Amino acid sequence: MKNISVIGAGTMGNGIAHVFAQNGFTVNLVDVNPSQLQRAMDTINKNLDRQLSKGTITEEQKKTTLTNITVTSIIAEGVKNAELVVEAATENAALKLSIFEQMDMYAPAGCILATNTSSISITKIAAVTKRPGLVIGMHFMNPVPVMKLVEIINGYATKKEVTATIVELSKLLGKIPCAVNDYPGFIANRILMPMINEAIYSLYEGVAGVEEIDTVMKLGMAHPMGPLQLADFIGLDVCLSILKVLQDGFGNPKYAACPLLVNMVLAGKLGVKSGEGFYTYTAGSKELVVSERFK
Ligand code: NAD
Repeated sequence: MKNISVIGAGTMGNGIAHVFAQNGFTVNLVDVNPSQLQRAMDTINKNLDRQLSKGTITEEQKKTTLTNITVTSIIAEGVKNAELVVEAATENAALKLSIFEQMDMYAPAGCILATNTSSISITKIAAVTKRPGLVIGMHFMNPVPVMKLVEIINGYATKKEVTATIVELSKLLGKIPCAVNDYPGFIANRILMPMINEAIYSLYEGVAGVEEIDTVMKLGMAHPMGPLQLADFIGLDVCLSILKVLQDGFGNPKYAACPLLVNMVLAGKLGVKSGEGFYTYTAGSKELVVSERFK
């Protein structure tokens, strides 16, 4: 496999394009928004410079990585020679179904169609294509160039050979693949989101404050980041939508989002991306300051 196409050049898409290109693959990066393509190339350039300054790549490798990436705004153009397409567009089911219809229409027969979705059913996405056996989840973690895990999700119809190919390919990228089956939240979010929700409930019920909850989980469980800080980092709107997927998918009220999380999303307090969640974030500062609301 040599030719990869990545759909969506946002946070995840630029990282996915980066790791494939750095490992010798030819990448077509596609985004409907041309300014996002420019931003993605700037980010990849900046991240390669960081690797260069750490001595983990050479100037030559940086140059080759950049020349391995071509950008376009047209899906038909971007996927026409692909052997694998990894879709990393916005987390919206209707949008992803329509992108998969187009990928299926324009990618060569035999091309594997993967999605980086955090929570949408692989089986549902596969069902809109004429090649459900070749559709699979390839869930990279953020930031992609740094995080080792790729959660590989088998849809109901995914062929065993396709899973084996994607497992081997992930290893070629220097990642550690873990294959799981397609049920709501897969493994990563099925376990992570109830933990984050429970942390928010603990705050809501006044069991402890923001810093205390995060400190207990950091020092007591050796988590690099507490669950409330992690929720801010992921985006509280994203956490809420994944909890809804779990609750709807299992029909079990134990996944119901804490009312405090719902209120914060309604109030536009989405975490790092909005400047405030459980902590406040000033541009350029890494200092964690608990939001006034919770003091
Ligand atoms: P993002 O908002 O940063 O980027 C999404 C990109 O998709 C945007 O650049 C947008 O212009 C583009 N896009 C929208 N419609 C498109 C279309 N029709 N064709 C081509 N491009 C289109 O989102 P993100 O955080 O990179 O998330 C992308 C996917 O990765 C989602 O499915 C998300 O659930 C998943 N994911 C995100 C994270 C994370 O931490 N951000 C982690 C794991 C998985």
